[in-house]
Parts: sequence; structure tokens; C-alpha cells
Amino acid sequence: MIKLENVSKVYQGANGEVRALDDVSLSVEKGEFVAVRGPSGCGKSTLLLTVGAMVRPTEGRVLLSGEDVYGMSVSQRARLRADKIGFVFQMFHLVPYLDALENVLVPTLAGARGGRAEALELLARLQLSHRLHHRPAELSTGERQRCALARALLNRPEIILADEPTGNLDPDNAAQVMQYLGNFHREGGTMLLVSHDPLADQYAQRVLRLDQGRVQEQ
Ligand code: ADP
Repeated sequence: MIKLENVSKVYQGANGEVRALDDVSLSVEKGEFVAVRGPSGCGKSTLLLTVGAMVRPTEGRVLLSGEDVYGMSVSQRARLRADKIGFVFQMFHLVPYLDALENVLVPTLAGARGGRAEALELLARLQLSHRLHHRPAELSTGERQRCALARALLNRPEIILADEPTGNLDPDNAAQVMQYLGNFHREGGTMLLVSHDPLADQYAQRVLRLDQGRVQEQ
């Protein structure tokens, strides 16, 4: 489902080059839940954004369902993201002036699948029916992440890419979000999660270690 072949990513920073990913090769099978663990700065976000058709690697190839993600046109890549991928971030990235329901519907503006009925159903599943018209600032952090999760699930993605999804949550809310991600996986979804949080190990089937841009199997 997800395949990286000898992927390197070099950023040209003000203070010279940073090799965020260094010759990374890995595969995630359809329906698998893989966690990539490592400290801050080891390349986790870069890995996730590269898989998510957002950051072109300097070298190597990324294949999703056998398709070369960076060999396709920009619009094909946008289509692939809208059709197949759901993103969940540590900082939630909700739109501050939209309410919870409107936030869940944002991806549809870019042509992603899903509509109001599905959004309402997802928000109910994520225990947010009583918060439909609250803006992010009027939600707890746990509610914000559940709202972001509903947004990620709206297009019925095959893959969820999660970047430190529990990083801003207290232990109870962190466990709850991990359980929802676990449900997505149990229902057949493919999960790739990057985190420094050991909690991820309890839910993932396979844990990889990322160290200075290099991946090792645990
Ligand atoms: P992590 O998610 O593990 O904290 P990142 O993938 O965000 O790691 O970053 C890996 C390395 O690449 C870090 O040293 C970071 O400073 C650097 N980096 C990330 N993005 C950029 C960028 N746009 N320009 C320059 N350097 C970057």
C-alpha cells in the first residue's frame, strides 16, 4: 500500500543543508498499523508529509498502491490526497472561525468525498453531536482532536497519516484518540503514525525507529 524506495530529503536551510531523511526504504501493507518512533527533529514529520504527497523527496520514490506519487502531475497528486488519505496533526489545524461541523466539511471544498449527513454521523460517532456549532476555541483539546479526526475520516480514506496525534492531549484523551485510530485500523484502514509517545506502541502492529533520518525495525 505504502512503499518508500531509498527516499532522502535534504532541506536547504539558512545554516546549510539538513538531511531530514537519509535513504529510507520501508513498506506498509494494506490494513497494517505501523508506528514510527523517534525524538524531535529525527525526520518524522518529513517522512509523513513525503508519504502524504505533500513534500517531494530529494531522492528516491514513494509509491501508494503501486503509483509513483511524485511521478504524477500536481493535480493528480491533489486528487490522490483527496481520495485516499486522511491527515491528523498534533496541532489539529482546525479553521478558527468555522464551527466543528464546518471544519469537518472543509476537505469537500477541495473536492474530497463526503457531505453533511456523513459529517453529522462521524461527529456523533466521535461524541461531538453536542458541539456541532462550537468553534475550535470553544472546544476542549480532546474535542478538537476528535473534530480533526472526523475531518480526516470524512473522505473514507484508505490511509490515515497521523503526526503526533496525542502530543497535545492529556492521558485520557490521548487513549481515546488512539482507540479511534485503532478502530479505523480494525475496520481495514492502513495507519501510519509518527510519534515520540510510547503509547503508540500499544496500538501499532509494528514499530519502526527513526534516528537522524534513518529507519530501523524495532
Ligand atoms: P520531527 O518531526 O521528527 O521533529 P522534522 O521532519 O520536522 O522532524 O525535521 C527533521 C529535520 O529537518 C530537523 O532538523 C528540522 O529542523 C529540519 N527541517 C524540517 N523542515 C525544514 C525546512 N522546511 N527547512 C529546513 N529544515 C527543515
